[in-house]
Amino acid sequence: MSPVLRLEGVTHRFDGIPVVDNLSLEIASGEVVCLLGPSGCGKTTALRLAAGLEQLQTGRVTLGDREVAAPSQQIPPEERGIGLVFQDYALFPHLNVADNVAFGLTSLPKPARREKALLELRRVGMEGAAEKFPHELSGGQQQRVALARALAPNPRIILLDEPYSGLDTALRSQVRDDVLHLLKESGAATLMVTHDPEEAMFMADRIAVMRDGRIVQEGSPHTLYCYPNSAFVAGFFGEVNVFSGPVKDGEVETPIGPVAAGGLSEGTTATVVVRPEGLRVTTLQAGQSDYTARVMQARLLGRSSLIHLHVQSGENGGSIEWHFHSRMPGIFLPETGTRLRIDLDPGQIFVFPASNGGAT
Ligand code: ATP
Repeated sequence: MSPVLRLEGVTHRFDGIPVVDNLSLEIASGEVVCLLGPSGCGKTTALRLAAGLEQLQTGRVTLGDREVAAPSQQIPPEERGIGLVFQDYALFPHLNVADNVAFGLTSLPKPARREKALLELRRVGMEGAAEKFPHELSGGQQQRVALARALAPNPRIILLDEPYSGLDTALRSQVRDDVLHLLKESGAATLMVTHDPEEAMFMADRIAVMRDGRIVQEGSPHTLYCYPNSAFVAGFFGEVNVFSGPVKDGEVETPIGPVAAGGLSEGTTATVVVRPEGLRVTTLQAGQSDYTARVMQARLLGRSSLIHLHVQSGENGGSIEWHFHSRMPGIFLPETGTRLRIDLDPGQIFVFPASNGGAT
């Protein structure tokens, strides 16, 4: 399908420093794409460039077959047919809910504006609040109104910047369920910014992971989680254990066991990333001499238990102490000091050349 929104070779500098660096991205109608990355990596700036809220310096932004931004000419945000939702909802405090939603419907005659606003409010389950003012609504309700306002003019593109950050955990999962449903129903192309990997995985058909202004990997949630192309991407989906060591006989020896080096050349240094859920611990049976570790602390997190472990390994006559984490499903709370057996799940282990360990 041809893209509705396309960013090509977009670079943006603040005070000479590139915060968006040669970024290219395409989004088709009905598709939800998330820009995911740590604070300060340039996500919001990329979104603002797509919206036209930031003057484009280098590259091109195209909506459908219409070029809306090139360094030489810039179409203002209100003429781009884009719906915007920001983290603070930005409802007009002096307008009631219905008037907030009707605000952007200038192409319709006045009575039709109110009718359309009420229809949009019904879609987000807020028709009962039409006469209320924003300060009379909860965060989740304001968020729904903001979405109704963004969707009301039937934009082809919706841009969302951390739309759930003001909501508590319980409300967040409810609202994002609803928002995803509405976005899919609208058929708009959606670009959403978030620093929360779980949120991106829930919402996105495709995730673009950003670091230092660049997209370092792009793909479906499944691809990024199961086939990260760097330690950075692997580590972005939750805390990980990281080791490095030389490749010898096709393996990398780590304190928790040998790991297949996945085609890396002999003698090169590898970075090994092990997800805590890929490091399974069980009670040590008598006579077992596999890889073991001692429990330093075990914590119940709810649906899983996080076990902080350590291993003492001798190297060149010295002794190195390694600390790492295992995440076990359910309640598993061994006593501090207990020695446990370790088994590794190859599906949760990633090996990269050390030169590529933290980058792309
Ligand atoms: P966060 O998740 O914290 O919102 P982000 O990934 O969205 O971060 P941006 O807000 O795009 O990142 O900011 C990228 C970099 O650009 C940051 O270092 C920020 O300080 C800087 N920056 C953003 N806006 C401006 C501005 N108007 N003037 C100067 N520097 C800016």
